[in-house]
Amino acid sequence: MIATTEKLFWQDMYLREFDAKVVSSDEGGVRLDRTAFNPRGGGLVSDVGRLGAAEVVEVVKRDEEVYHMLGGGATLTVGESVHGVIDWERRHRVMRMHTTAHILSAVVNRETGALITGNQISPLESRMDFSLEEFDKEKFGDYVRMANDAARSGAEVRTFFMKREEALRTPGFVKLAGALPPEVAELRIVQIGDIDTQADGGVHVRNTSEIGEIVVNRIENKGKSNRRLYFSLQP
Ligand SMILES: [Zn+2]
Repeated sequence: MIATTEKLFWQDMYLREFDAKVVSSDEGGVRLDRTAFNPRGGGLVSDVGRLGAAEVVEVVKRDEEVYHMLGGGATLTVGESVHGVIDWERRHRVMRMHTTAHILSAVVNRETGALITGNQISPLESRMDFSLEEFDKEKFGDYVRMANDAARSGAEVRTFFMKREEALRTPGFVKLAGALPPEVAELRIVQIGDIDTQADGGVHVRNTSEIGEIVVNRIENKGKSNRRLYFSLQP
């Protein structure tokens, strides 16, 4: 069994370039000894970018391993050293969107008790599903204003690791207990000031002042108690 890929995107979410060695390479993708490419997961789209001359079109996680899918039939050789560059403009937008989604869900949950039943975090427009029977457009406008106030407050985003049992014991930390792979002994916790704290594997901004203005594009009814919110960020 080969050691798991070192997740550089957890050590430094602002790392845009890195050097690594190819551990395996086949139709299933390229595995590296270390990577700054954040794989698709938790509702977030994956990073794209380059590994040497090859284009990285998608990055996926299988069994806690990270696989880089190359475009245009490009291949890499096992043992080869490669320089990785991620598409930073896209990544930073995803980080801003993701931290926004945590803030919005925290505010809506605090004000209504509604839970998030799904999300899709993309660079230009993201969406979140809330389990909410009563929907009041005016009140929702207030929640978005509260979320914008929270973003503007310049709250620091901190990440740390916690023993799985301890995280499970802390109310609110683990929102999707069933989704956690049992072999993971330590959980990564993301804390956004005093706004939201939960177990989370995704990439975030280090300060909410990077978010900008949250703009709600539309809200759709998806079934009796499911509201789908589409939002973007300015600028
Ligand atoms: Zn998240």
